[in-house]
Amino acid sequence: MSREDYTAKTNAQILLMREAGLITEAALNAVRAAIKPGVSTLELDKIADDTIRKMGAHSNFQLVEGYVHTICSSVNDEIVHGIPRADRVLAAGDIISIDCGAEINEWNGDSAFSMVVPGGSDDELVAARQQLSDVTEGSLWVGIAALAKAEHLNEVGTAIEEFILEKGEEHGREYGILEDYIGHGIGRHMHEEPPVFNYKTRHKGPKVQPGLVVAIEPMVTGGSDKVKVLKDGWTVSSKDGSDAAHWEHTVAVHEGGIWVLTATDGGKAGLAPFGIVPTPIV
Ligand code: MG
Ligand code: MG
Repeated sequence: MSREDYTAKTNAQILLMREAGLITEAALNAVRAAIKPGVSTLELDKIADDTIRKMGAHSNFQLVEGYVHTICSSVNDEIVHGIPRADRVLAAGDIISIDCGAEINEWNGDSAFSMVVPGGSDDELVAARQQLSDVTEGSLWVGIAALAKAEHLNEVGTAIEEFILEKGEEHGREYGILEDYIGHGIGRHMHEEPPVFNYKTRHKGPKVQPGLVVAIEPMVTGGSDKVKVLKDGWTVSSKDGSDAAHWEHTVAVHEGGIWVLTATDGGKAGLAPFGIVPTPIV
């Protein structure tokens, strides 16, 4: 399959993906509620796994060869693919991103959020980390809003990059947009064509048409976009040690409009500032 192609999903298939999306959201909500100083990332992993199993689904991260966990938990200068560990204990003021996915009825969901661990005493550091997370989350919604109106998929990356550069100027600080890791199509497999860039590209990308379902996932550092993979073979960290944030949603384009499958409200709150109303499939 060329990178311009993708397997379009029917409305019935998108409804099945919605189920996987909401289970993914439930797992992330359970983890979010448990994040506090003193908790280990392995404990968070168990919370996500228990939630997904109780809802009759299973972790799709565990289907990735060589990976045995349900979440990726990336702390501070770790950007993505951090491995949950019993000895990775969260401290107040840490910034952590949690990435998770569920599969049910052979359809997949994939979503991620970042947050600052409550109770941090270094106000300046906490504020800078919160701002980084907010900019990354904001860029995700800018990207989703762009998808709602896009003719071609790569308009998403252009919108994300422009937003982040603008925020960098506004905040007088540097933000690095990862180029080595990007979003993706999603469906029967967690990772499918087409690629979803978080930055401007020379190519327009595939035409945005009903049936396109993608995971949009900006990964942003508070410094350079250069990364290194740690000795564990998984964890992607910033080369310059700067903090990082990661936000992700699974989003469907259908005849009636756009629908965020990994959010209970379908993206209503996140898209409201753009004057876009998500449309459920009924
Ligand atoms: Mg993910
Ligand atoms: Mg993903």
